[in-house]
Amino acid sequence: MAFQLLNGRELSLTVLTEIAAGVRKLIAAGRRAPHLVAVLVGNDLASETYVAGKMRACEQCGFRSTTLRFGNDVTQAELLAAIAALNADDEVDGFIVQLPLPPHIAEQAVIEAIDPRKDVDGFHPMNVGRLSIGLPCFVGATPLGLITLLDRYGIDTTGKHCVVVGRSNIVGKPTAMLLMQKSNPGNCTVTVCHSATPDLARYTRMADILITAVGQPGLITSSMVSEGVVVLDVGITRQPCATARSGYRLVGDVDFDDVAPHCAAITPVPGGVGPMTIASLMRNTYLAATANPLDQS
Ligand code: NAD
Repeated sequence: MAFQLLNGRELSLTVLTEIAAGVRKLIAAGRRAPHLVAVLVGNDLASETYVAGKMRACEQCGFRSTTLRFGNDVTQAELLAAIAALNADDEVDGFIVQLPLPPHIAEQAVIEAIDPRKDVDGFHPMNVGRLSIGLPCFVGATPLGLITLLDRYGIDTTGKHCVVVGRSNIVGKPTAMLLMQKSNPGNCTVTVCHSATPDLARYTRMADILITAVGQPGLITSSMVSEGVVVLDVGITRQPCATARSGYRLVGDVDFDDVAPHCAAITPVPGGVGPMTIASLMRNTYLAATANPLDQS
C-alpha cells in the first residue's frame, strides 16, 4: 500500500511561518512581541536539547524568549518563588517549566503554582479540566500537535475508532479527551490502552487511527495493525548509534519499515510529532499574548 508520510517537520515550518506573520502584524500595530520563558533545572541532556529547540522556534516566530536556568540543587521554595515572579511579570506572556524535575521537587506543586493564563504547556488542572469539558483552554503542545497534523492533512476522524496507547497526563489522556469531543478533528470512538492492557494487539488491530505514546522502540509491528490505518507515533527513545555524529539516533514506538506499507498515513520519527509539539507551544504562546483562551467561555 502506498502510504502518505505525515511530515511534521514541513508542517511545523508552515505553522511557524503563519505565527511569524501574526507577530509582524502585532508589531506593526505598535504591540510588543510575545514573550516565552523556559525554566530549566539541572543539566539533563534531553531537556537541554528540547529547550534549545523551543528557543530556536521562538526566534523563527519573532518572539522574545528567555531561558531561566537553575542548578540541580535548587530548592522547591526557590523554584516556586521564581514561578510567582513570572506569574506577576507583565512582560511574560507564557512560560514552561521543563520536565522532569529533580526528585526533591514535587512536580505537581510546581505545575499548580503556574498561573493558568500563562500555562502554555497546558498542564495546570484548570486547563486540563476545561479541556475535559470542551471549554477554551491551553491544550497541551503534543496533543495539539497531533490534532493539527490530522486537521492539516485533511484526515477525517468523525466516527473513526482511535486507539491511544499510553495514558500519561501530558499525551495519552488529553489526546483521548480531544478525540472523543464533538468536534473535527474529534468525534472518534476512543480506546485507551496502557501497561496493564492484556493482548495489546487485539485493540491496535481495531484502530482506524493509532496513536502511540509509550517510549518502547518496536512496540508496534505490522501484525498489530489493520490495512489502511493512520499511525501517529509520539514515542521518542534515544538509541546508541555508532554511525550518527551525536552517537545516538531517535526512534519511535512503531517499527516504521515493517508497519508503514500497511498504512494510509504515518508519521516518521524523527520529523513527525516532535516538531509539531514545538510549533504548538508557539501557537499557545501567541494565543497567550493575543487572545487568551481562559478569557473565553
Ligand atoms: P510516560 O513515559 O509517562 O508513560 C508511558 C505510558 O506507556 C504509560 O501510560 C504506560 O501505561 C504505557 N505503557 C508502558 N508499557 C506499555 C505497554 N507494553 N503497552 C501499552 N502501554 C504501555 O508517557 P509520556 O510522557 O506520554 O511519553 C511517552 C513517549 O512519548 C516517550 O517516548 C516520550 O519521550 C515521548 N514523548 C514525545 C513527545 C513528542 O513531542 N514527540 C512529547 C512527549 C512525550
